[in-house]
Amino acid sequence: MIKTVGILGAGQLARMLAQAGRPMGLKFIFLDPAQDACAAEFGEHICADWDDEVALRQLAQRSDVVTFEFENVPDSTARLIESLCPMYPPTRALFRSQDRIREKSMMQDLGIPVAPFAAVSSRPELIAAVEKIGLPCVLKTRRFGYDGKGQFVLRFEEDLERAWQELGDHQLICEGFVSFEVECSIIAARGKDGETMFWPLTQNLHRDGILAISKAPVFDQALQLKAEELAQRLLDHLDYRGVMALELFLKDGELLANEYAPRVHNSGHWTIDGARTSQFENHLRAVCGLTLGSTENSSLALMFNLLGEMPGFAKQAADQQPIPGVHWHDYQKTPREGRKIGHVTVCAETGTGLRAKSAQLAAELGVAAELNLEAVLKD
Ligand code: AMP
Repeated sequence: MIKTVGILGAGQLARMLAQAGRPMGLKFIFLDPAQDACAAEFGEHICADWDDEVALRQLAQRSDVVTFEFENVPDSTARLIESLCPMYPPTRALFRSQDRIREKSMMQDLGIPVAPFAAVSSRPELIAAVEKIGLPCVLKTRRFGYDGKGQFVLRFEEDLERAWQELGDHQLICEGFVSFEVECSIIAARGKDGETMFWPLTQNLHRDGILAISKAPVFDQALQLKAEELAQRLLDHLDYRGVMALELFLKDGELLANEYAPRVHNSGHWTIDGARTSQFENHLRAVCGLTLGSTENSSLALMFNLLGEMPGFAKQAADQQPIPGVHWHDYQKTPREGRKIGHVTVCAETGTGLRAKSAQLAAELGVAAELNLEAVLKD
């Protein structure tokens, strides 16, 4: 029986995994180079670099199973852990997700629709890619991109040179620009024997490339089934175990895949308060070989990401005047501009209730105008 779960990384995702796992009787051991890692208060923290072999061996020896909270785990780190102890999700899912070309090629081979794309590693290749794909298009780094970093949208011929100046010293991918109506994500948990469960398709709104809001459920059953079918192909192909998020664009009724994350995902944080089983609990159930819990909504839910610092009124509101159905999550991280330091989820039984509470909260957070909340809250 699994008692101790090792986690590569001790940020907020590891913290929320541990918060879900402790009531299940699990113990946690984290490896993370950051001294002030915010998951550390929920387990033992090995403070070491990703290539510290002694520390990695220690993590593997003391864990019954190892998982990770971020997709840029170096190859050598993942391979060493995998050789010493069970690790899920599998490394093939991890490595594929680290390179956008390999990721998109795999999805294309599986018949999962993606925007047209081409690999770019020189100026002539960029010119050829833009000619083939057409403008507008998006130039991205193949590796280490997150939250919209390492990306450049090309709209006019003259953007080529600026984009090349900015990103030309990386291996790149050029993608067709998708003028999507909505962004969404399907979050799935796949267990030991291939048992797969999906949470309701979640609508996501980004600001400056960073997730701002997620809302679920939103979409009809036909779209839900379509998204599930696409994600299932990926999960089965990778013989996946754990939680995965597949990010999708909705355009003219069709779903196009953008990328997948082989881990619990920011757009699934609402599941802590708005679903029968959270993504964190089901990830642990999957990696520990336990039966998965129900992924049904327990209410309608809308999550706001909190960046920079926790709003001053949050603690007071939570402590003194808790609004029913409003759940604050403070990751206890040192405030820093643009840093994800917490989230708040609004839950309600009816669309009207969700709209009213979310609009009130957005106004208090001072984000109502810039987020165009109306568009997200309409049924
Ligand atoms: P990514 O790092 O690929 O998840 O991109 C971050 C955000 O940039 C996405 O959530 C989209 O809002 C936007 N984006 C990325 N790729 C495209 C694309 N091909 N067309 C339009 N928007 C995109």
